[in-house]
Amino acid sequence: MAATGESVVHGSKARPQDLPSIDKLLRLPQVRALVQTRGHTQVATQARVLLDGLRNRILNEEISLTAVQPDVLVSHLHAAVEAKLASHMRRVINLTGTVIHTNLGRSVLPQAAIRHLTTMMEGPNNLEYDLGSGGRGDRDTIVEGLLCDITGAEAATVVNNNAAAVLLSIAALAGGREVIVSRGELVEIGGAFRMPDVMASAGATMIEVGTTNRTHLADYQRAINPHTAVLMKVHTSNYAVQGFTSSVAEAQLAPLAKEYGVALVTDLGSGSLVDMTQFGLPHEPTPQEMLRDGCGVVTFSGDKLLGGPQAGLIVGDRDLIGRIRKFPMKRALRLSKLPLAALEATLTLYLQPELLTRDLPTLRWLTRQQEQVAQMAQALLQPMQAALAPRYSVSVQDMNSQIGSGSLPVDRLPSCGLAIRPVLDGKRGIGSALDYLAAQFRALPMPIIGRIADDQLLLDCRCIDDVQEVQSQLDVLRQQLA
Ligand SMILES: *Cc1c(COP(=O)(O)O)cnc(C)c1O
Repeated sequence: MAATGESVVHGSKARPQDLPSIDKLLRLPQVRALVQTRGHTQVATQARVLLDGLRNRILNEEISLTAVQPDVLVSHLHAAVEAKLASHMRRVINLTGTVIHTNLGRSVLPQAAIRHLTTMMEGPNNLEYDLGSGGRGDRDTIVEGLLCDITGAEAATVVNNNAAAVLLSIAALAGGREVIVSRGELVEIGGAFRMPDVMASAGATMIEVGTTNRTHLADYQRAINPHTAVLMKVHTSNYAVQGFTSSVAEAQLAPLAKEYGVALVTDLGSGSLVDMTQFGLPHEPTPQEMLRDGCGVVTFSGDKLLGGPQAGLIVGDRDLIGRIRKFPMKRALRLSKLPLAALEATLTLYLQPELLTRDLPTLRWLTRQQEQVAQMAQALLQPMQAALAPRYSVSVQDMNSQIGSGSLPVDRLPSCGLAIRPVLDGKRGIGSALDYLAAQFRALPMPIIGRIADDQLLLDCRCIDDVQEVQSQLDVLRQQLA
């Protein structure tokens, strides 16, 4: 029997009275079962939407009687309810080669953090309760000791993210006054985070010194006046100024800040709590170094190289941190109990540094050797070929991963993965064949995200811990492509 509108023969056209009432639809056995699992509210709402839509179509176009049969209605209703209740946040498999991928949620939490987070969220906790005195506590104390231990700071506080940490620090220390910053460090991080805008939002006046490529100590010195509150350093993490350049290091600025009684504040961006060169990775400045060099306040992210949840960490001098903590804006930017629990467990791993490259996914993936990555790629080669043949050819190929999230922007990690090329039949261009394939990978139950480069779809295997997880998607992929 014809199922589409155009081919309907006269007489099998649906009329409004062929539609069941809502009540009748809801009384069908399969719909009752759906109500049992999904609840009356959602099923009734979707039933109404479905019947209203069909009624309109019957009045405005021709649709077949088949389209209003009970089993057809039930299957549409089922799909509509499931679609409505499906979560928008989905687990994905990151084969982009960018380890700390901002669009894919940046760092993946260590198991210890996931366990601590779940345990703490399953009931009330002592977020702001002092179990010793039985009185009110401060949520900062949950991680302050850890941060001081790890960085050598006198005091620490935490907020929603590093953008908030910078905003709050400037507002608390330099609101209504001046902040001196080098023209070479007026960074934009992506989104709306631009240093000049942050200064304005914080109510501070930004005084730019030096030039894009060169700034000297004397430039800062000349700009200092009685209105100056802060000398600001920004780690230019997402770009590199190369060639004829010079900037003034924190160690040189610290004596100047001290002499004039102004605060030296450094936005490290990523920052790393351990020396990355011990893993053969490029050097990334640490808060420890910055504090040793005389910075009063250092801010950095929780979910970049640190490998924890989204958070903004502020460490430094006791008096300065005290002013930041007491500033009213802190209340609006404070860290919620969810990331706080995850942050505590993540920081605790840093007290056992030997475990970091095993237990902290970000460092595990960044330190993974090319040979190990190649083993993952080899293990996936045949299953992938089987899923994609005959329209695509697959090979194991060396490639370069990136650290990501603006960290160490010019460095690349030798990696390995699968390179997929369309076997062209002449009908479709290589670009659209690759776009189609990438979309099929994204449409999987657990979407796989790769990258297109050099007329290939590249699946970098650096961030795979469980080959089985990837492999389990390939049957569906084969069906999708069939
Ligand atoms: C990433 C970054 C920020 C913003 O940090 P978020 O934690 O994403 O808010 C600020 N400054 C620098 C230099 C950065 O690299």
